[in-house]
Amino acid sequence: MPNSMTNKLSIGISACLLGEPVRFNGGHKKHQWINSELASVADFKSFCPEVGIGLPVPRPTLRLVERDDQILALDSDRQEDDVTEPLKDYFSRNAEAIAELDGFILMQGSPSCGMERVKVYGSQSPVPEKNGVGIFANELIKHNPLLPVEEAGRLSDAPLAESFLTRLYLYHEWRTQRPFESAKSLIEFHSRHKFLIMLHSYQGYKDSGKLLSDLGTREKLQRNASQYIQTVMMALKKVSSTGQRANALYHLLGFLKTHISTEEKQSIVDQIKLYQQGTTPYVVPLSLIRHYARIHSDNNEYLWQQSVWFPYPENLNQYKNVV
Ligand code: SF4
Repeated sequence: MPNSMTNKLSIGISACLLGEPVRFNGGHKKHQWINSELASVADFKSFCPEVGIGLPVPRPTLRLVERDDQILALDSDRQEDDVTEPLKDYFSRNAEAIAELDGFILMQGSPSCGMERVKVYGSQSPVPEKNGVGIFANELIKHNPLLPVEEAGRLSDAPLAESFLTRLYLYHEWRTQRPFESAKSLIEFHSRHKFLIMLHSYQGYKDSGKLLSDLGTREKLQRNASQYIQTVMMALKKVSSTGQRANALYHLLGFLKTHISTEEKQSIVDQIKLYQQGTTPYVVPLSLIRHYARIHSDNNEYLWQQSVWFPYPENLNQYKNVV
């Protein structure tokens, strides 16, 4: 297991998800999994944008309103108190601390913290459209395009949770290793994560590899490193399909062909096929290949080093048997 996985992650979070009583009604939205499993591997830095701009607890609710082609955060009752700019300022005041984080978890549906599908009221129609982004969340995402960001409500979706956890750990490793001072160090980083990227996007795997083909000058190294991580983070955002997973499994199996018997190889192929048919979970063929990769690690260090075996710590693995 790499060092980056034994370090604690640093994750920003909407304060109400930690159980802090900061909601408009004095309540909270404590999230069980975040406060148990994820808390065992992460230090949380909590943010409540609404309390942070001086609004009291309890307080009148806010809503997003579209007015003159602008999205504003107004009080729900009279729609006169505009806190859009204070919420943006709150982000700016915390921008430096946020830039040091490995990821961020937001509270869904909130006009301040919601990442998507937040209700937006028009000035004409009383019926809101669910197509907005909270004011703080919008600034957060706009100014930190690489940062893994997810809503708490989406973490119960296993493939989305897996993508988020994978991005958290890869981004943590990147953030704590940068800047890459040599082409060798960047290529080593890529070598470890190749199959993880392939699992999520074959195109992302090809594009990221191409960016490392010419790192001749320091300027090129810095420029391509920046494009490289953008490409990788975009690729990991994609939820991997059964076909992509099977493809990556066959690639991994290919590295074992000189180390295992024909019978052993056939039993792994059978499990991959069962996975493709939906009869067995992905973790079964993956564990089998990992087992042989571990046994033959002395002869094939490259294979055993792959992050695809353990993209994140196993105690967060509660989702794995369903993907
Ligand atoms: S959703 Fe955001 S603004 Fe609302 S209570 Fe939670 S942390 Fe505060």
